Amino acid sequence: MPTLEELLAASAAFHHHLCPRQVLGVRMGLAGGRWLGLTIPQTDKRMLVVVETDGCVIDGLAVTTGCRVGRRTMRVLDFGKVAATFIDTVTGQAVRVSPRASARQRAKDYAPEAKSRWESYLLGYQRMPEEELVQLQPITLTISLEKLLSKEGYRVQCEHCGEEITNEREVVQNGQTLCRACVGEGYYRISAC
Ligand SMILES: [Zn+2]
Ligand SMILES: [Zn+2]
Repeated sequence: MPTLEELLAASAAFHHHLCPRQVLGVRMGLAGGRWLGLTIPQTDKRMLVVVETDGCVIDGLAVTTGCRVGRRTMRVLDFGKVAATFIDTVTGQAVRVSPRASARQRAKDYAPEAKSRWESYLLGYQRMPEEELVQLQPITLTISLEKLLSKEGYRVQCEHCGEEITNEREVVQNGQTLCRACVGEGYYRISAC
């Protein structure tokens, strides 16, 4: 098991510098892994992390848990919150970890020498006891874990645009197999050239 210092160094190398949100990511990852009783960083795909924002926190979570978007062991469901849910895909157990509302204030007490608020978070988040920094909420998923993971190698073709759809992300509408963009859930419109 790597130490907090080793994890922070690995995250900083990945991120080009160390910042308070990476520290949060590392400590949230340690808390989540311990709660599930799984060995981290994992070398298999047993743990799935659902992160509620993008940005710095993800790099700390990734080095600590071994979960990566590219390995399909991490998903970003963007709620704009620094919070993450750790799921044991074998048992279905899940815990949501988020910083306590009081963490920013408490960080200052643990870093009296800090010259800025930023520095007090950077140092304080490393030093404060876990129970003061984060809260853990055991949760039950209201979305299907099976659907979230989906079947490896599964793919179909959209009957409207012809593009390939993987991971069971198609929508069946009036008997037609369509991609999410073609049923109006798209985020783009193709420009005329
Ligand atoms: Zn950062
Ligand atoms: Zn389509």
